[in-house]
Amino acid sequence: MDALLRRLRDDARVRAAERYVWAEDARTLSDQVLLTGIPAPPFAERVRAQRMAELMAEAGLEEVAIDGAGNVVANLEGASEESAVVLSAHLDTVFPAETPISVRKDGDRVVGPGISDDGRGLAVLLAVARALREGRARTRAPLLFAATVGEEGPGNLRGVRHLFGPRGAGVGAAVFISVDGAGLDRVVTRGVGSRRFRVTVRGPGGHSWVDWGLANPIHALGAAVGDLAELAAPGDLIGTLTVARWGGGTSINAIPQEAWIEVDTRSESEGRLEEVEEKLRRTVSRCVAETRCQPHRGHLETEIAVLGIRPAGHTPAEGPVVRAAVAATRALGVEPELCASSTDANVPMAAGIDAITVGGGGTAGMAHTTDEWYRNDQGCEGVLRALYTVLLVGGGLAD
Ligand SMILES: [Zn+2]
Repeated sequence: MDALLRRLRDDARVRAAERYVWAEDARTLSDQVLLTGIPAPPFAERVRAQRMAELMAEAGLEEVAIDGAGNVVANLEGASEESAVVLSAHLDTVFPAETPISVRKDGDRVVGPGISDDGRGLAVLLAVARALREGRARTRAPLLFAATVGEEGPGNLRGVRHLFGPRGAGVGAAVFISVDGAGLDRVVTRGVGSRRFRVTVRGPGGHSWVDWGLANPIHALGAAVGDLAELAAPGDLIGTLTVARWGGGTSINAIPQEAWIEVDTRSESEGRLEEVEEKLRRTVSRCVAETRCQPHRGHLETEIAVLGIRPAGHTPAEGPVVRAAVAATRALGVEPELCASSTDANVPMAAGIDAITVGGGGTAGMAHTTDEWYRNDQGCEGVLRALYTVLLVGGGLAD
């Protein structure tokens, strides 16, 4: 891969593309600011998607369309009919619709919710498309550019699921590269899966004196939380379990009619996720069954709703996309770090597609807060890394 990349970088077309990336650094940053300034809360990415579609068309991409899930997809024809390489970033943010969205300069930083995650990724997609056009560089494999919806928590990866689903544009693709956030060293090759649940326990409820003895949903769930905390004791590196929220009750002088908890579990292994879910279900049902109440005075009912499932998966380090990303990162003088995270790449990884997630260059902090910031330290290198990776896995340049 290193030798192939050196050859590619000697090609006049790639050199022209590189020059364009450096010369248009400010344009990339202004796209990032522009797109971040268009609110894209979970399930309401439409306006940002439309603007992204216009920018993709201006960047020379073909057949720009918004698919059934709301993803923006566009093609760049290859020289052959090989399987496509997907270059992707996500449109949505974690911020609810009521969050005021504005982007401002603060010294050498740009501050705004979503500026890095994933305003940077979207801007990198556009910069790569323009650089390929400016250099008249065409890969052998066709490229599919995708700006996805639903990457963040509540979206449950619905955009990328659609992309690789039966009616998605990604069907048949061989490689998936997601540009998510900033940075130049991390290459996500392992997808942390998660399963999230809301457990609700209901009972008859009643007066705390007159009806004393009725089964109490909070007592039952409290016992379950205690046992789950034991189960989730740190030290177990192959999975996590977090009781993240809880609530319930009616009044200080009432036996509650309802109590609930929300539980997040994560692991890099599907088998482990399965096992943790099993334990969660068993613990809750045991604690509910053991909750003491007077006989024949009502019983408790349990409902476990699945709030979200992200499949776990991994991409082998010896596969083409990881080797390409490693070579591309090293070519920029940075030693890559292969790591695990939960991103759009989880879905193609779980489907056996060669998939990674990389940062889009620059540095950033305070992600998922309204103080999120981005600093354009050699940000161009993030664009170049994505460009090199795409060229390498896209089979090099067409003659
Ligand atoms: Zn992200």
